[in-house]
Amino acid sequence: MKHLSQEQKLTLDMVRDVVAREIAPLARELDEKSLFPYHARDLFAQLGLLNPLLPAEYGGTEMEIATLAMVLEEISKSCASTALMLIAQIDGMLPIIHGGSPALKEKYLRRFAGESKLLCALGATEPEAGSDLLAMKTRAVRQGDNYVLNGQKCFITSGSVADVISVYAYTDPGKGPKGISAFVVERGTPGLVYGRNESKMGMRGSVNTELFFEDMAIPAENMIGAEGTGFANLMQTLTTNRVFCAAQAVGIAQGALDIAIKHTRDRVQFGKTIAHLAPIQFMVADMATAVEASRLLTGKAAALLDARDPKATLYGGMAKTMASDTAMSVTTDSVQILGGSGYMKENSVERMMRDAKLTQIYTGTNQITRMVTGRALLFP
Ligand SMILES: Cc1cc2nc3c(=O)[nH]c(=O)nc-3n(C[C@H](O)[C@H](O)[C@H](O)COP(=O)(O)OP(=O)(O)OC[C@H]3O[C@@H](n4cnc5c(N)ncnc54)[C@H](O)[C@@H]3O)c2cc1C
Repeated sequence: MKHLSQEQKLTLDMVRDVVAREIAPLARELDEKSLFPYHARDLFAQLGLLNPLLPAEYGGTEMEIATLAMVLEEISKSCASTALMLIAQIDGMLPIIHGGSPALKEKYLRRFAGESKLLCALGATEPEAGSDLLAMKTRAVRQGDNYVLNGQKCFITSGSVADVISVYAYTDPGKGPKGISAFVVERGTPGLVYGRNESKMGMRGSVNTELFFEDMAIPAENMIGAEGTGFANLMQTLTTNRVFCAAQAVGIAQGALDIAIKHTRDRVQFGKTIAHLAPIQFMVADMATAVEASRLLTGKAAALLDARDPKATLYGGMAKTMASDTAMSVTTDSVQILGGSGYMKENSVERMMRDAKLTQIYTGTNQITRMVTGRALLFP
């Protein structure tokens, strides 16, 4: 992996400091009480971290993807829910960055400049359209200067707290992927109805919401790109998002591994620390190897994205699959290494194990990412 630039070092030092002082101490409380990390939102806004990919021409810092992946890893080591809030923020904005007309970018992206605390979300999944996104039922019908949307979305990260949501709907169901369009939907739009916030296994500091669209009129100018380009836009966003999911997974795994290693040095059984036991040494060796390999693959995928190399899609999928499987196995082994203490909430590894599970599911399950990777390799 190439050496860090001075700018990357400064950014990561700042993030490590903020995470240690302000984010890590609250991680357990967010999880136990299902609290949204508003404090992190405010802090990130002050530090220019809330909208890291906002283009410079709209007042943003336009961070490199590779740097952002490392930032997300740092945050996830202590609080994956806080990292998920940031990932949802990026997901909601990327469709506009990738596909929005200059006028749409001017209208929306500008609002996220400076110390803006506005939040974003991305709404694609529906009750009958998860892995099979083309099965979505939400329809957008042109009526004069508006598109009128009817339908529903589910599991939407930051759905009920977002000020701006990128929403996908069929404008022409007969055209399959070329019949889907994307829209910017603002909080407060008549017809935007909030359903329940889900009660979840992990990532409990993140909010996941059902959204209903009931004759929701959206100005036609809020369409992202041309009619029928929504699915391509969504796939482009998912390609980037998978690298952030991978970075989050690496962070969760590293956070759990750090706790496990410390425990092996502190815990004495049979007259010596458990670090002296070969079975524990083998576990730690395998865990650290998998984390490092996942980190390297994630870094490679991020660098390909920065270079706008088309291979980023392949490597992003591979990184997401490997890093999330690593996060699941490393957090599970960390609980094992802590023994009974690992099962207790106060040691955090059980939270990390619950958080890790989501990384195998969201932004394309690992069955789907494996399928996509296999097909890309076998039918290039
Ligand atoms: C906490 C959380 C946050 C989320 N945030 C968002 C968000 O912000 N925005 C958004 O739009 N969505 C979001 N999602 C949705 C998420 O992306 C979907 O849950 C995910 O894509 C899987 O869809 P599904 O849950 O419908 O599972 P299903 O598609 O029903 O899959 C069920 C099982 O079948 C397998 N499967 C399905 N199809 C195939 C196939 N062809 N081959 C092999 N196996 C297959 C899957 O891998 C899985 O194991 C979120 C989900 C969660 C849980």
